[in-house]
Amino acid sequence: MNRSNFPINSETGLEEPGIFIQASSLSLEETSLSVIEEMMNMPDLSDLHVEGLSQIPLGKLRINAVRLHAVCRYKKGVKKTDEISPDSVRCIDIHPRALNDQWSRYANFLLFHEFLHALGFSNHGKEFRRLEALWHDREACEMGRLFSSYLRNLNARWLWVCPSCDMKHTRSKRSNGRYRCRLCLRPLIDVKGELHDS
Ligand SMILES: [Zn+2]
Ligand SMILES: [Zn+2]
Repeated sequence: MNRSNFPINSETGLEEPGIFIQASSLSLEETSLSVIEEMMNMPDLSDLHVEGLSQIPLGKLRINAVRLHAVCRYKKGVKKTDEISPDSVRCIDIHPRALNDQWSRYANFLLFHEFLHALGFSNHGKEFRRLEALWHDREACEMGRLFSSYLRNLNARWLWVCPSCDMKHTRSKRSNGRYRCRLCLRPLIDVKGELHDS
C-alpha cells in the first residue's frame, strides 16, 4: 500500500469527525417563498409591497466570501434616499454556504433582512431594527458570528503553530516568521492547514 497517497482529507462531505452531513442544498426559491409567506402575515408590513418581493432575482455570493453573508443590490441609478420598493432592486445575493440544512435558519433570516432593504428600509436605522426583530426565530438573528467563523475555518489554508506551547491559529496566509506566540514569544511556524473544501 502506498502510504504517501493515503488521502488525509477525503472529499466525502465529512465536516466534523463522525458526523456525516448530507449535501442537500435547499433551493433559494423555496426558501424565499417561505420567508415571503411569513412576511405577508406580519401586520407591521401590511402597507408595504410584500407581494413584489417574489419578483426579485435571487443569486449567490462568491463561495469564499467571509464577511459578507447576503446583499440587496439596487438597480443602477437608485439612491438610498429614493423611495425604494421591490422594483428598485436588481438582485439579492445570499452566501451559497448558508443554503443547506445546517444553516437554513440563518438563510431564512438573511433573506428576511435583505427583503426589508427591498421594501424601502435602505439603512439599518431604528425602524429597520424594530422590524428585523419581528422575525420569529430569535436565535437565527444571532447566528452571523457563528457563520463567519464557520466560513473562516473553511477558507483557512495555514496553521500558525507555536513550537513551544503548540498553540495553533488558523489563517488564510503564511505568517512567514513575522508573528510570535503571545505566551512564549517564539516565532510561529507555518503548517499547511486542512482543506475542507476544494
Ligand atoms: Zn442590511
Ligand atoms: Zn507558545
